[in-house]
Amino acid sequence: MENETVIGCAIETIRQRIGAACERAGRSADEVRLLPASKTQPASALLEAYRVGITRFGENRVQEVVAKAAELESTTIEFAVIGHLQSNKASKVAELACEFQALDSLKLAQRLERHLADLDKTLEVMIEVNSSAEESKFGLDPADVVDFARELEVFEHLRPIGLMTLAKPSSDPAVVGACFDRIRRLRDDLNSRQIGSHDWPELSMGMSNDFELAIEHGSTCVRVGSAIFGQRS
Ligand SMILES: *Cc1c(COP(=O)(O)O)cnc(C)c1O
Repeated sequence: MENETVIGCAIETIRQRIGAACERAGRSADEVRLLPASKTQPASALLEAYRVGITRFGENRVQEVVAKAAELESTTIEFAVIGHLQSNKASKVAELACEFQALDSLKLAQRLERHLADLDKTLEVMIEVNSSAEESKFGLDPADVVDFARELEVFEHLRPIGLMTLAKPSSDPAVVGACFDRIRRLRDDLNSRQIGSHDWPELSMGMSNDFELAIEHGSTCVRVGSAIFGQRS
């Protein structure tokens, strides 16, 4: 292999594990995309991943997206923002991101819409859902998701594609799996009731410690950080 860097090899391993998890779940490997979560990593680390075919990265902080977008300008790398966003940072996300996975308020949707309209641009969005109740402070209560999803229909520059969640951090797969199942049922409900008059294909669930379980529960996008880039300092 041409690019035998530590990060390149780690990505190959994760791809194999995704493939094996898909096979166990009776799913096709192309139903699941790997979104490396590159927060705190330098642009050079993203370049190592880029050399083995990764073009989209998940980032949490807007400042890091601004810096990395500038450093990596000569590549085709693009950014998905996957972390909670304050509405005063909406303009940078509208400008620099191709996808935003942590939509959790109408105010933020309005701000994004306004900036996107100015830029004449659309943004793929996922609604972040709090599947673990007490553990996470971000994301909508599952009970509020259908109404919220309906309200997004008026925003012409937002393209809602699915739901995102962080499972409860637990070593018990039954507990983690129950979080994933709850969000999957909610997504299936959006589809069967045709909320927003479009499909909701995506379920962003699973991180380094639980992505295989998430795939068994229907994930279409796994956000993997430390298993690719090593532990964050
Ligand atoms: C950091 C982060 C991840 C990746 O976490 P790892 O445990 O390092 O794989 C996934 N999703 C979000 C929202 C994150 O902030």
